Amino acid sequence: MRITRSVRLGIGAIAVAVLATACGGDEQRSVSQSAESGSLVVGIKFDQPGLGLRNPDGTFSGFDVEVAKYVGQQLGVAPENIEFKEAPSPQRETLIENGEVDYIVATYSITDTRKEKVDFAGPYFVAGQSLLVRADNTDITGPESLNGGKRLCSVAGSTPAQKVKDTYAQDVQLQEFDTYSACVEALRNGAVDAVTTDDIILAGYAAQYPGQLKVVGEPFTEERYGIGLAKGDTESRNQINDAIEEMISSGAWQAALESTVGPSGYPLPEPPQVDRY
Ligand code: GLU
Repeated sequence: MRITRSVRLGIGAIAVAVLATACGGDEQRSVSQSAESGSLVVGIKFDQPGLGLRNPDGTFSGFDVEVAKYVGQQLGVAPENIEFKEAPSPQRETLIENGEVDYIVATYSITDTRKEKVDFAGPYFVAGQSLLVRADNTDITGPESLNGGKRLCSVAGSTPAQKVKDTYAQDVQLQEFDTYSACVEALRNGAVDAVTTDDIILAGYAAQYPGQLKVVGEPFTEERYGIGLAKGDTESRNQINDAIEEMISSGAWQAALESTVGPSGYPLPEPPQVDRY
C-alpha cells in the first residue's frame, strides 16, 4: 500500500504542488487524489469506547470509525483499504498539516482557531461538554462545584481543557494528559476528582465501568464534530460533505449511532445540518 501511495504521490505531484502552494505548506495532498489511488489514511481515536476504539484483536470500532468508513466508501475506497492512525487531541492539526493522514474523524470539534490551520467538513454530530466522577461522589454536580481546588483532568489541546482554563481555572486544579483514557485511570485510582470532555465520550467510559463512574450535570458547551482535512482542499471537503449528507439521509447514520453509541445509554439526538462554510 505504501509503494502505491508513493507512486501515486509522484504522479499527482503537479496537483499536489498546486494545492501546497495554495495553502502554503509543502506536504499537503488532496483527499480525492489519495482516494483515486485506492487507499486512505484516516486519523481516529484509539481509546474512546463507542467512538474510536482499537480492539484487542486489532480491529477498530465506534461511531467515528463508521463515519470514516462510510465517507471512504463514498469516495470509492473500500473499508479494508483504509489505514487507521491514532490521532490524539493535541496532534490532530499537525497530523493533517504534515500530510500524515488524509482526514480525521476523532470527536474533533469545529472551532475558529482550528480553522486557521485545517478545514472541516460537517458537522456530523453535536455533543456537549460534561463531567465524569466516581459513582460515590455527591459534591460535584456541575462545573461550578469544581471550585474550591477540585482536581480536574482533561486532555491537552482539546476544547474542554481550554474552556476550563478560561472559565474555571482560578479555583480548580487542572491536570492535562494526552488521552481521556489516562484521565479515566486517574479518576478510578483517586488521583483526580473529575474528568471533563464531551458527554458522548464520558458516557462510553461510564458504560465501561458500570457502577463505578457516572456522568453528572447538564452539558455546558456545544461541540460540533467535523471531519478535519487539509486547509484549501475544497473539492474533497465538498465530497466529504456530500458523503455525510448521504449517510444521514440513507439512514446509515442512525443505524451506526444506534449500534456503536446506543449501548452506553447516551440519548441519541437528531442528525445535524451540514454547514458548507
Ligand atoms: N470535542 C473536543 C475537542 O475536539 C473534545 C474531545 C477531544 O479532545 O477529542 O477538543
